[in-house]
Amino acid sequence: MSEAECIFCLVIARKVDASIVYQDDRVTAFMDIQPLTEGHLLVVPNQHSPDLEGVSAETAGWMAEIGRKLGLAMLESDLGCKAFNLFLANGEEAGQTVFHSHLHVIPRYPNDGFGVRFPPGFGRKVSREELDRQAESIRVCLQV
Ligand code: 5GP
Ligand code: ZN
Repeated sequence: MSEAECIFCLVIARKVDASIVYQDDRVTAFMDIQPLTEGHLLVVPNQHSPDLEGVSAETAGWMAEIGRKLGLAMLESDLGCKAFNLFLANGEEAGQTVFHSHLHVIPRYPNDGFGVRFPPGFGRKVSREELDRQAESIRVCLQV
């Protein structure tokens, strides 16, 4: 998808309606159009990238920091939330539907019905050998 067609690029450029909470030279935060809970918002890099691979370390770190600050602001606000989730779907299999990378900041309320739940049978026990093998396969690809 080109930037001209990307809905979040249009939001950043203020070419479509959006309720922007925060914007600086790196990131923009705005209310999700279909909130999972009241106050749900998104933090996006201003530079278009479908996923995190194209987001610089500085911008990825700043997205997380602005998400943290917005979550804390939600707790102080009159929304009445008691907690918040930070969530990022990176890729289709992770549930990503809009391919301009974005961090969800989701305020949480007592008994709001929302939650990431694991179906029965998930979270199986695995051997240390298997955990070590998985750790190694990730470690050899890690670029820090
Ligand atoms: P994803 O499923 O990719 O993690 O999340 C995409 C999010 O973008 C959804 O929560 C959806 O409601 C939100 N969204 C999709 N289109 C628009 C839009 O045009 N404006 C705003 N503000 N949010 C949008
Ligand atoms: Zn975009």
